[in-house]
Amino acid sequence: MITGFDYINENFKKIEYNLNEAKAKFRNPEDEISIMAVTKTVDPHAVNFAVANCGIRLLGENRVQEYLSKKDEYAKASVHFIGQLQTNKVKYIIDSIDVIESVDSLKLASEIDKHAARIGKKQNVLVEVNIAGEEAKGGVAPDKLEELLYEMSQLKNIQVTGLMTVPPAIDSEAFLYKMQKIYIDISDKNIDNINMSLLSMGMSGDYELAVKYGSTQVRIGSALFGARVYK
Ligand SMILES: *Cc1c(COP(=O)(O)O)cnc(C)c1O
Repeated sequence: MITGFDYINENFKKIEYNLNEAKAKFRNPEDEISIMAVTKTVDPHAVNFAVANCGIRLLGENRVQEYLSKKDEYAKASVHFIGQLQTNKVKYIIDSIDVIESVDSLKLASEIDKHAARIGKKQNVLVEVNIAGEEAKGGVAPDKLEELLYEMSQLKNIQVTGLMTVPPAIDSEAFLYKMQKIYIDISDKNIDNINMSLLSMGMSGDYELAVKYGSTQVRIGSALFGARVYK
């Protein structure tokens, strides 16, 4: 029994309550909205507490180096990669990551495809959309998304299963709305070999709004684990 992490339980209950409220207000009861615990800078013991006590089944990792140093300590959970990924790092994470959510170029997609082929895996990926055109953030520009999806649909060892975005903290709602529209439009195109079943959006500051705009997966860091302390 790990002690000292009761605040995580309290935080989780609040998040769950708020999510259920948002869902009751804006969505259908049968809609599934999963909660990802975002683990950057978080002690693996705290992460494992959330897995053991809050029913967290999904972890989100931002940094290859940090992930590799922590992964053997984690309790069993599905892990998604959500940070900017350099092509030369793909080989280090390909065997243990269930979904790479931050694919934003054909170059990166091709590298993932190559390594997936090498280890005999079909790698699930999301395409990250830079919804507000922010310089400092990853993601493909909305007007380049369709072209990228067509190109990625040709790669045999990856499977696109949806879209991810990180909207700006300010005026997030307008961008969540815009993202939902893009998701619906691209889903309606029914591109061969492209599966649009996951819309990953919503963080500590905007997860209730993200539910309003169709999110199927919220990614929660600080609201669950507390403010991040960078070392
Ligand atoms: C850090 C991070 C999150 C979680 O952020 P919080 O605001 O702490 O909930 C979600 N998604 C991505 C891509 C992140 O880098």
